[in-house]
This record gives sequence, structure tokens and C-alpha cells, in this order.
Amino acid sequence: MQGFHRRFLLAGLAGLGITPVAHGQPAASRTTLPLIVLDPGHGGADPGAIGPAGTQEKRITLLLALELKRLLERAGRCRVLMTRSRDAFIPLARRVDLARGREAALLLSLHADAMPPGQRGQLRGASVYTLAETATDPLAAALARQENLADRAGGLRLPSVSPEVQRILLSLMRQETRAGSERLARLTINALDGDVPLLNQPLRRAQFVVLKAPDVPSALVECGFLSNPEEEALLRRPEHRAKIASSLAEAVHGFLGQRVAT
Ligand SMILES: [Zn+2]
Repeated sequence: MQGFHRRFLLAGLAGLGITPVAHGQPAASRTTLPLIVLDPGHGGADPGAIGPAGTQEKRITLLLALELKRLLERAGRCRVLMTRSRDAFIPLARRVDLARGREAALLLSLHADAMPPGQRGQLRGASVYTLAETATDPLAAALARQENLADRAGGLRLPSVSPEVQRILLSLMRQETRAGSERLARLTINALDGDVPLLNQPLRRAQFVVLKAPDVPSALVECGFLSNPEEEALLRRPEHRAKIASSLAEAVHGFLGQRVAT
């Protein structure tokens, strides 16, 4: 989104008390580097998937996120925030709120999946998810909240913005975020391809709560199937995780490099 339309959108959203991420600002004009939120899946009492050899998903995702953080910080093109950096349970909504509250440029959630017992071992390969289109749109809920806020005196700093205009502005924000999420997911698949086994049709959509930020482009990477013994063994190896982390760093840098200048 460019020029006038983007400025109009930002001004309107500011009037709603929403500060969208400045996806369009060229890096040189920013006082700080863009913030990337890495979200190692599960943690604490929630181990996530467990492989046949007993490997816990929560451990793999944390090790992977720490390696990716190291690579990104070494490259120096962004700041990195982790939703957890130890074995702790963090509710999904809090992970999303963290990214939104810090105006993250993107959120990357890291997981490793598993098939139910009986189908174990049949599937392998990484895949990347973006949020599915749903009837229960989180934006609709956000809009409802904003409209409720507007009912309170002083809730809006731009009282001239009608509910209809609010709806349009939020719809534009949703389109921009969705486009960003799709771009991030495609870049991630392209970066993984050739280095890491991929699932058939690796670009997928689902209703993951952690992808529901209306204003932060988000993607969820399933790095492989812990239920597949070979893939479980691979995910346990630091060299394999380093390969995945390197591909993900490439995707993050690609995303940051492609941000459209206004
Ligand atoms: Zn998971």
C-alpha cells in the first residue's frame, strides 16, 4: 500500500487507538531496527508433540528459535524478541499480544507436528501455515471492540470517523497483514526448499490462534514430523536444526528487504 492511501489508513487507525506496524518504512528512516518475534511452540506443562524416541516438541522448538535468534542477531538487520526463552507455559493469546504490543514487523511461530498413533511414520517434511479465512474473523472481533470503545466518551481521537469508515480502515489493515503473512510464508517455503524435506503442498492455512494478530504478518512453521522416526532423529541433530534456522533467517531477511517503500 502506497502514498496517500497508506497515510490515510495510518491516520485513521491512529484515530481508533490502533498503531499498525510500519511495514512500509524504509530501514534508513527508522530509529531502531525492525523487531522480529520468534515464538517457540508449547513449553512448560505443554510438551507439544512427542516422538517415538520420546523427543518433546517444546524442546526442539526452543533450541531452533535460539539458533535462529543467534543467526538474526549476528546479521544485525533486526532485533529479536522471543515469546519464551525457557521451558515455560505461555498462553497463545499472550504470545500474539506480545507481538502486537511491541509493534513487531513479523511473528514466526515454530513447531514440529505429529500424526496420531496408527498413522505414525507415514508423513514427513516441513510445512508453513498462514491463518485460514474464517467466518469467525478475529478482525470482526477487533472491530467490535473498537466500536464498543467508541461508545465511551473520548474513546476516539477522531470523532469524525464513522463506524463505516472504521470498518473500511480495518479491512485495509487486514488485507495488508494478510498479504504480508502470505509473502512471509512463501519466502519461508522457498528458503527451506532444497535444504529441508518439505511436505506435499507445503503452504497451508489453518485457524491457529497464534496467527490471529490483525496487524502483524504471521506464519507458523512446522519444521517436520516428530512422529516420523527418521525426521525425529533429524530434528534432534544440531546440524539439521542449524540448516532450518539458516533457511528461516534467509526468509526473515527476504521479508524485511521486500517491505514496500511509501
Ligand atoms: Zn506444535
